[in-house]
Amino acid sequence: MYENVKICHDRLLPREQALMLPQQTISMGTGPSRAVFLFRKMWINGSKLRVRFMGGNPAQQALVKEQAQWWTQHANLTFDFNNAPDAEIRIAFNSSDGAWSYIGTDCQGIPRNEPTMNLGFLDGGTAAHEFGHTIGLAHEHQNPRGGIEWNEEVVIRDLSGPPNNWTVEEIRHNVLDKYAVDQIRGTNFDPDSIMLYFFPGSWVKSGIGTKANDVLSALEKTFIASKDAYPRIPVQAVELVINAAPTPASIGKPGEEDLFTFTVKTSGRHVIETGGQTDVVMKLFGPNSQTKLIAEDDDAGVGLNSRIVRNLIAGQYFVQIRHYNKARGTGSYSIKVTR
Ligand SMILES: [Zn+2]
Repeated sequence: MYENVKICHDRLLPREQALMLPQQTISMGTGPSRAVFLFRKMWINGSKLRVRFMGGNPAQQALVKEQAQWWTQHANLTFDFNNAPDAEIRIAFNSSDGAWSYIGTDCQGIPRNEPTMNLGFLDGGTAAHEFGHTIGLAHEHQNPRGGIEWNEEVVIRDLSGPPNNWTVEEIRHNVLDKYAVDQIRGTNFDPDSIMLYFFPGSWVKSGIGTKANDVLSALEKTFIASKDAYPRIPVQAVELVINAAPTPASIGKPGEEDLFTFTVKTSGRHVIETGGQTDVVMKLFGPNSQTKLIAEDDDAGVGLNSRIVRNLIAGQYFVQIRHYNKARGTGSYSIKVTR
């Protein structure tokens, strides 16, 4: 039996189930190993994320702070443990609820009085693992380029029992299903990733299990600082003027993020939309905040374009644009805001 193993279950919002596909194993290619990013859930590069503790003793809180910094030593993100009432990240320490976290900007969809992360245990690098989810990372074992072929019946048998007692649906969601290839940033499987958890050889057809990793891998550190993740480059938001002609832009490098800003002086219904042939996804943040997510859209516009319609109050807003599918390369597009 497979007992007493503490497994994190990442939480996807119900509407995000479409991100997952039934298991589909893809043979490993060549090239550097990387972590798996759900790129649509990434924060604006350079974001300062505030953290509020909803419990925990001083020793637990100190450990969490230390492990959170493992990421920010490499990523262009900052965690501010200021316990702000409206903090983006809210951490509970409920020992009967396991360890889990919402992924990236999904945290913004959770009511302010509820946690976005639970640390029911803090063994090894658990807090660092959960903070990995918080910045947009997914489970390495669900990397579609991981090449893992599960012995499904063994996995289901072991996780159906204590201490997990998961349903088959939960087991598929947490372990067996893999992410859709076009939803991730990453390439090969990283056996040293902190986002990979331990599983025994009996779970996989190869018979080779994994070890628990309690620190960030060398590849993870490199990847998190790369242009596909949170590079330490100045983030310059391009100013958009409301009701002006569309502003031409382009995603010049694969994985690149473009940032725009506009200022609403008179409250009212605003339309933010892209134009052109490039398939982009758009997120709107504000007012006066780069972390307060208002809306996100993929294809509501003409063709593959993004379109967000919202009533906005006065203030400064930020628009994050990412290319939908890295595999389809790069391209030009335009963006405009109308009122
Ligand atoms: Zn996890």
